Amino acid sequence: MRAIVVLMALLLSGAASSRMQIVTTTAMIADVARAVAGELAQVRSMMGPGTDPHLYQATPSDIRALQGADLILYNGLLLEGQLGEVLGRFGELKPVIKVVEASMPADRILANSGLAEGSADPHVWMDASLFSLVAPGVADALAGLDAGNAAVYRANADAYVAQLEALHEWIAHSIASIPEEHRILVTAHDAFGYYGAAYGIEVAGIQGLSTETEAAVADIRETVDLVVELSVPTIFVESTINPRTIEAVIEAAQSRGHSVSIGGELYSDAMGAEGGHEGTLIGMLRHNTTAITESLGGEVAQWPAALADWAREWNLP
Ligand code: ZN
Repeated sequence: MRAIVVLMALLLSGAASSRMQIVTTTAMIADVARAVAGELAQVRSMMGPGTDPHLYQATPSDIRALQGADLILYNGLLLEGQLGEVLGRFGELKPVIKVVEASMPADRILANSGLAEGSADPHVWMDASLFSLVAPGVADALAGLDAGNAAVYRANADAYVAQLEALHEWIAHSIASIPEEHRILVTAHDAFGYYGAAYGIEVAGIQGLSTETEAAVADIRETVDLVVELSVPTIFVESTINPRTIEAVIEAAQSRGHSVSIGGELYSDAMGAEGGHEGTLIGMLRHNTTAITESLGGEVAQWPAALADWAREWNLP
């Protein structure tokens, strides 16, 4: 009996390690890869919850995972500021794809509104519909390694796109319910440009697009001016960023007689914990949209029927 158990274990572990190994930088890309690959691949993201991708450096265990990977997927658009050399090195050995950058139509990429002229805004996952374009790109990459299952990857990608399209509509309806004069989203850094453009809410980040530079005193003062002038009721902290600058804005606004509250923590550059619904792209955007809509006086739209199965899976209403 014991021999059979051991043999089974060996067979199972053999089966597991023969699955395709995909390593991604962000968990948002891992979410797409899991949806598209299904059971046919094992997916690991280098960056976990609360990790800032602009500053992230590869760890020894990342390097081991990258060595064992069949396919490496990353965002590009200069999101992974510190990983260029490592990804370049592995690119000489195996497929390493800037899958978000490569999936975007050039005219949909937003410009970096900050000082870095000519560079792009990398935070594409904030627009559910636009980010869904990554799924066919992942399907193509997987089909390139495993042509026999190309149709499966394509079908999985189509199903994921349909889910994100339903989510997109839900976000748009929810945000549209916020009174127009309160439709302004103030956060710690400029991660919400795509969100604002897609869903019709004005966005102001204290810090520029990347977190590599500290928020300057002038940036904080400018944000305080905006918050006071527009009587912004609520501003938001981000899960990957020190809340210090947001707190500074609140204090300064208070000293000028305008009281502003914190509307909870938004997921900007990383998702919630793996294994929870906020550790999925749908759950991340659902959390953000609920927090933004409720804090700014709107009413969250009815959850779409197309995502009822998703909600059931996580025991959510
Ligand atoms: Zn960012």
